[in-house]
Amino acid sequence: MQIRPPLLDSAAEPCAFLFLTYACNLACRHCYIGDRAPDGHMEEATIIRALHVIREAGITDLRLTGGEPTVHPLVFQTVMWAKELDFRVRLNTNGLLLLTDARTRPLVPELAGCWISVFGLTDEAHQRMSPGGPPLGHVLEFAGALAAKGHSIGVRCLLMPGAKDGVHSFLTRCLNAGLARVRFVPVQRDGRASLDAEMNWVSWPTELEEIIRTCTDSPLARNFDILSVGNPFDLTDQFDAPTDSCVARRRKLWSIAPNGDVFECCLLVTDRECAVASVWDPSAARTLGAVDPFLPRKCRFFTPYLPGTPTKQSCPMSSLDLRVKTHV
Ligand code: SF4
Ligand code: SF4
Repeated sequence: MQIRPPLLDSAAEPCAFLFLTYACNLACRHCYIGDRAPDGHMEEATIIRALHVIREAGITDLRLTGGEPTVHPLVFQTVMWAKELDFRVRLNTNGLLLLTDARTRPLVPELAGCWISVFGLTDEAHQRMSPGGPPLGHVLEFAGALAAKGHSIGVRCLLMPGAKDGVHSFLTRCLNAGLARVRFVPVQRDGRASLDAEMNWVSWPTELEEIIRTCTDSPLARNFDILSVGNPFDLTDQFDAPTDSCVARRRKLWSIAPNGDVFECCLLVTDRECAVASVWDPSAARTLGAVDPFLPRKCRFFTPYLPGTPTKQSCPMSSLDLRVKTHV
């Protein structure tokens, strides 16, 4: 199998995503987690067990996610437990509590990195996809202010069909706010997004190619420490077989659900049948630390999910890191 260099993941180090909860304080239109019946928060004993299993497996890169991890009453304590075990802890958050609840903010200095979600390139698009969330301008100002204090903050921005004309002005807005880390995440045609008839899904892969060109060619890109664009559609040519684009075959992305079940990537946590272990298994640390490359898997996300574009298949987790400064 040959993978051409630009498509390699920027950091091939194994990492583990701890889904502290499936609960969330927002109800975004596209969310694939939000459709799930709430399983409750991860219990304290499961958190502690999971941290020890992950660490024993030799993994030090920990991502707290959900749902919305900041609604978990033990989120701060979890960060402190993890730091005692020498994890580098990053947080994926919708930012609502960070912006509105001063008690949540002490989390930030403890983190090695924080990605705050925004749900559209414009105020209107952001509010439409995530009603009830903080306005886009507030999120960018807040994140920029934290970046100015030296914290490792970036925004993960949802890209939706029809978004291409707004990319340049969004990047300008981020730079004006003092933000130099942006990850664009194309909406997937699964979860609740599939119900949105207003979106033109058929032209979405072509539009995404234009967005990638804008990000690559624009002089603005030089000002970013991190600028990446997910491209779930058109990476097939980079691999001998389409299934080789499975990110989990190139990088361990262990994901631990609130009940302690272990999955091979973040998207699989939505399907209980895909669990490969539980943190409570006596051999869990050995499973997570295994060095053998994963076998090709049949993943339900790996389907021609755009009707009429059967050649545009690849793993929906694939992304292009267009610019990543090595010192960040
Ligand atoms: S903030 Fe994230 S987890 Fe919460 S509803 Fe929105 S997409 Fe889903
Ligand atoms: S979504 Fe499927 S194809 Fe992609 S990394 Fe996960 S298991 Fe692999």
